[in-house]
Amino acid sequence: MNWHVFVVDTYSYPVHTTKGFCGVKNPKGGGRKGLLYDIKTYRKGDYVIFYQMRVDESSPLSRGFRDVFRIVSDPFYDDTSVTSDTNTVLGKCPICGYSYSEKPDNDGIYHCTNPNVNPHTIPTGQHILPYRVLIEPVMRFDDPVDDNTAYIDVEDNGELPTLRWRKITGAGRSRSAQRILPEEAEKLVRLMKKINANYQNDSLKTLNYTTPQMIANKLVPETLNIVRDTSGVPLYTVKRNGSLADESGLEAWMLENIDKNIPVLAEIIGDLDELEFWGNNVQDGVGGENADILTLHKRNGKRFKATVFELKKDEVNKDTINQVLNPEKQNYAKWIGQLVTANCNPPIEKLQIQPIMVGFKVDQSAIEQIQNIQNNFSTFTNEMIIDYKYRNRTSVKIKVLKPILLSYKVVGSTVELRRESYTL
Ligand SMILES: [Zn+2]
Repeated sequence: MNWHVFVVDTYSYPVHTTKGFCGVKNPKGGGRKGLLYDIKTYRKGDYVIFYQMRVDESSPLSRGFRDVFRIVSDPFYDDTSVTSDTNTVLGKCPICGYSYSEKPDNDGIYHCTNPNVNPHTIPTGQHILPYRVLIEPVMRFDDPVDDNTAYIDVEDNGELPTLRWRKITGAGRSRSAQRILPEEAEKLVRLMKKINANYQNDSLKTLNYTTPQMIANKLVPETLNIVRDTSGVPLYTVKRNGSLADESGLEAWMLENIDKNIPVLAEIIGDLDELEFWGNNVQDGVGGENADILTLHKRNGKRFKATVFELKKDEVNKDTINQVLNPEKQNYAKWIGQLVTANCNPPIEKLQIQPIMVGFKVDQSAIEQIQNIQNNFSTFTNEMIIDYKYRNRTSVKIKVLKPILLSYKVVGSTVELRRESYTL
């Protein structure tokens, strides 16, 4: 069971909830290509919790986490606008028809990004969100869980470790979505029920604005087949040698295919029934240290392994290994280990962490650096202890497994992976 937090504001929340869909922006390119990660992580049956971000300071209590919906369609692309009462979610620019999403200026005014026409703004409170999934309500609550109750209040046990750093109210983070850990979802649902003693069952009616039949020919293409709408050029550029021009293509492809039985990847992911969680850009440090992709695995009701992917468009080399695994630079086992064991339910006594590095090439210097780290610190044979005694929890033994090194190559519209063998 996978959970997402989906960010809305006071204008878009009523449209998404009464018309039964979530939508994300359409990136033109550059750094915004990462916006498509969200759509590549949605699966039918996943759950969505809304986070209503603030628009101004006037009503702090009307923002926060609210409601649980279930995703009931595959992701699709639809540029129609959807209106509920006085609010509208757009599928393209209402003035010029441009399909790429608007950009805010420093004053919070949203501008159309079409370079070929006279500059114009998008009406207040409207956003261009053509990448969509259909949703249906599971639980509706009148009052949102405000930020202080969610992040600060220690009367409720548990924390929101993957959400706290990116603090999704930040301007640059607005209007995005992310997967959250099962224990984070548990906490948010628990708080929603606590705050809303009168649990609302009667407002469960949501009429989807379109139907699965209507969107059957609008499904989002495979990652490497997504084109820039106006030109037909692939959004994710593949170089002549089969490498990707930027890392975002590799990340989007991995997210699309993580549960699709792809050779090599499927062996690493293992039994899909044991795949408890997967998500991308999971931050585990104040300095912005993050796992490109994190997966969690559960067996006999207990979490037993975390797999951490580091993705490189070019080569995996000494620097890659150093950046992630050198204990003199960061204590990988400790921070990743705490992130996924501190609040997990039920508590566990031991956890394996499997590091995975993926690049177009695996340079020999990467293997040598792994061997150096092992020689100097025994990182891949020792265990470390995370001491949770102060929380009345059992301490957890963390074991970092021998890193797996993968090389990739784009072949047609897929990515072929190859595992490099080496000895410690
Ligand atoms: Zn426009």
